[in-house]
Amino acid sequence: MPHAGIAALERGLAGLDRDDLRRTRRVLDSPQGPVVREGGEELVNFASNDYLGLASHPRILAAAHAAVDAFGFGAGASPLVVGHARAHEEAEEAFARFTGTPRALLFGSGYAANLGILTALADRSAAIFADRLDHACLVDGALLSRAEFHRYPHADLGRLEAMLSASKAAVRIIATDAVFSMDGDVAPVAELLALAERHDAWLVLDDAHGIGVLGGGRGTPAHLGLSSPRLVYMATLGKALGGYGAFVAGEPAVVEWLLQRARTYVFSTALPPAAAAVAREALRMIEEDGALVATLHERIARFRRACAERGIATASTAAIQPVVVGESARAVELSARLRRLGQLVPAIRPPTVPQGTARLRVSISAAHTPGQVEGLAAALQEALRDGAAR
Ligand SMILES: *Cc1c(COP(=O)(O)O)cnc(C)c1O
Repeated sequence: MPHAGIAALERGLAGLDRDDLRRTRRVLDSPQGPVVREGGEELVNFASNDYLGLASHPRILAAAHAAVDAFGFGAGASPLVVGHARAHEEAEEAFARFTGTPRALLFGSGYAANLGILTALADRSAAIFADRLDHACLVDGALLSRAEFHRYPHADLGRLEAMLSASKAAVRIIATDAVFSMDGDVAPVAELLALAERHDAWLVLDDAHGIGVLGGGRGTPAHLGLSSPRLVYMATLGKALGGYGAFVAGEPAVVEWLLQRARTYVFSTALPPAAAAVAREALRMIEEDGALVATLHERIARFRRACAERGIATASTAAIQPVVVGESARAVELSARLRRLGQLVPAIRPPTVPQGTARLRVSISAAHTPGQVEGLAAALQEALRDGAAR
């Protein structure tokens, strides 16, 4: 008898094809970098989150090699059993110093960290308030916690305040991206902290796209000159820091509670020590060489200028530069056209972004040359013009 479940999945997949939502993976034959190789082709890479060009930087590779020699590869166990090595301990200390927070804790990934934070701080007696455009893992963490879950329209402080005022929950948590992952805009963190203060709430801040980019690389709170015991700060290591994993930083009691109770921390193998060593080296590089982050901002400004000269609208000051085009099919077609021009720029479609706002998502890196970012603006103009002519 045929398995009905398989037929249902095949209908689901056919639906994805019909709606231009089926996604496929590229197979890269090179390290990450401003130019990547796919099969025999070289493509200028505007698709990765490697904002500082650290993922294959010689110093990062050297740190990884040295850590593998000193600690081996696998961590062997969860952190509370025997998986927490000197490399992890030192990386946590370095990250707390780097962000000016009392204590930090390493997690397996940003996704795991957000799940761990929200399920450890919230239970059925809690309420979580999340921005509509938050990353999927904050949403999943909120759902998994079984707290009441409220979503406010993007950056709408008035609506959030009304929700907080109406809440009778014992524990309140505001959860937001610091830099929104598909638009590159910065959340109103100072105002959110003031609301957290007024309504006795936590502010869980996901700085996946701010760490290494804003505040001289120290992240969005540093950029805005903010710190608070109400802040539970999360940053991934897989983007600007060029590695893998995540940190959570905050008050000692918060971090100790997560260490004891965050299920994605307690019940998961510790990061490979080399990933911790790589994170520490990335922080060192940012601290020692201000030019690294400054170069990224020069390239962002250059790209935006080159777009403005061609009448292409960009809106963000972060490394993420969305070019919103509307329909999924159009975004996919433009991405394919750019690919033929030697440019790798992903089409981002629902459900990652709201219906009708499919876009090209350009990620700028300090490793791009001035010529590469200007070349992309010219290619975008050409792709958009050919699109209009059809
Ligand atoms: C990428 C991302 C994450 C997930 O981090 P990983 O370390 O890749 O699991 C979380 N939040 C935001 C906003 C992200 O962009």
